[in-house]
Amino acid sequence: MVDECGANAASIPAEGFRWNIKTREVPMSVAVPAPRTAWNAELTRLRTEVAGPVSTSAEDTYDGARASWNRAFDLRPAVVVEPLDAEDVVAAVRFAGRTGLGVGIQATGHGVAAAADDALLLATRRMDDVQVDPVARTARLGAGVSWGPVLAEAQLHGLAPLAGSAPHVGAVGYTLGGGMGWLARRHGLSADKVHALEVVTADGEIRRVTADDDPELFWALRGGGAGSLGVVTAMEIELVPVSDVYAGNLLYPTELADEVFGRYETWVADVPDELTSAVVVMNFPPFEEVPEPIRGRSFVIVRGCWCGPSEEGGALIDYWRSWREPLLDAFGPMPFAEMAAISQDPVDPVPAQVCTDSLSALGPEVARTILGHTLPAGGPPELIFSEVRHGGGALARADRGAGHAALGDVTFLTHSVGIPDPAAPDRLGTHLRKLRDALAPHRTRHAYLNFLDGEDRRARTREAFTAPEWERLRAVKTAVDPENRFCFGLVL
Ligand SMILES: Cc1cc2nc3c(=O)[nH]c(=O)nc-3n(C[C@H](O)[C@H](O)[C@H](O)COP(=O)(O)OP(=O)(O)OC[C@H]3O[C@@H](n4cnc5c(N)ncnc54)[C@H](O)[C@@H]3O)c2cc1C
Repeated sequence: MVDECGANAASIPAEGFRWNIKTREVPMSVAVPAPRTAWNAELTRLRTEVAGPVSTSAEDTYDGARASWNRAFDLRPAVVVEPLDAEDVVAAVRFAGRTGLGVGIQATGHGVAAAADDALLLATRRMDDVQVDPVARTARLGAGVSWGPVLAEAQLHGLAPLAGSAPHVGAVGYTLGGGMGWLARRHGLSADKVHALEVVTADGEIRRVTADDDPELFWALRGGGAGSLGVVTAMEIELVPVSDVYAGNLLYPTELADEVFGRYETWVADVPDELTSAVVVMNFPPFEEVPEPIRGRSFVIVRGCWCGPSEEGGALIDYWRSWREPLLDAFGPMPFAEMAAISQDPVDPVPAQVCTDSLSALGPEVARTILGHTLPAGGPPELIFSEVRHGGGALARADRGAGHAALGDVTFLTHSVGIPDPAAPDRLGTHLRKLRDALAPHRTRHAYLNFLDGEDRRARTREAFTAPEWERLRAVKTAVDPENRFCFGLVL
């Protein structure tokens, strides 16, 4: 087993291809081909074996193929394969086995853990098949599908997937990390609704993984599988019977921020599970795309989604309306397929850096800490927003995939996001660290890995799991990927 990502990957320097001497014994009697010749031969074979595009840095297609939504990451793989189907994935993984390359996987690049430099990158965007079965209330999704098309297709049948706040996030990557969306307190995590996963493991075999067939791998993937155990080529999920919801945002001036946070904690203490909500401190950027009345201004926002009867949702929101008239009241009935309007996350690629913490309570000190680190203090704010999502309800169930048992202790989940300044690349990271340090006395030990990127996601992987879960997860990793071929995702 190779510990460090990339330690077993042959880089492909200009002068040629290196055999991986750490994990493969090459008997002395075997004539090792000239390095560059061997690499070229393998690349030629790869191109004949896969139907999808194959790009190296020598080709014009390379930049588009390797691009991540989060522009803070600049992946420099030795070769990018854009598979069309599971057979392409098999051929590519076997190529990696023969050449000793590590394997990175990317659907959209919303949750990059490590740049797959000098490796094989499987960019799954072309595996975009969506099949909804309205009778069985299930959907089969290709590896590269984002939630948008699934939401639209399911809505036609009065159904919904447990998508997250942004429809352009990849369904598989999101689900492998748990997947906490606007129906979470009523219906649980997206990972809870997985019926089957089709996976290509490091040995280049396709496995159908369910609770009955390969239950350990099924358990491990749903929480511990982002980039770390194999390539999920398709996912079969249950859809829930949700069509219309009562959802949106209430914007208040930041002068009321302390009071809003206090009232929010009181409010959610006994709301029904049909309401999943958040309180947010938002600094709208001064960009032209942002509508004029909110451009460059800061607000405290109560947002959420009620999936019970519409009139009951309205009555619940009256708690706020009867307190103070919001500056903007954008709560109302909407088709669930349009739930992107709740968070209005950016669609176009941006550079972003994030941090998260799990809390068992809010309280005035936590509120002051979040507000103090998020609102502008005499200059441009360091962060775009800090959001506190309400947990509990169906999220607190413990009998499911890896890492989710610990969610039982998480009443609130923070998620802070900033845009790094290229002129001062360390400043944002320092600011996020200070915020985390200030929250330290209040946090539970659990890390929700979907709300982490890059080195933080890798360094804090262990924090997502209880000690017994970690042992179990490590046993699965050792069994299915003993050479750590999948070394650019979670660090197992
Ligand atoms: C704007 C925005 C909104 C978000 N909203 C939410 C939210 O509401 N709730 C929530 O829980 N999370 C949310 N997230 C976090 C998001 O779920 C994670 O970043 C997730 O990892 C993104 O998955 P992806 O496939 O789109 O990204 P990618 O960067 O392509 O992949 C993320 C990880 O999954 C792995 N992976 C992707 N596809 C496969 C595959 N087929 N097989 C194996 N591994 C694979 C990758 O290797 C990588 O490690 C949000 C993120 C952003 C940027």
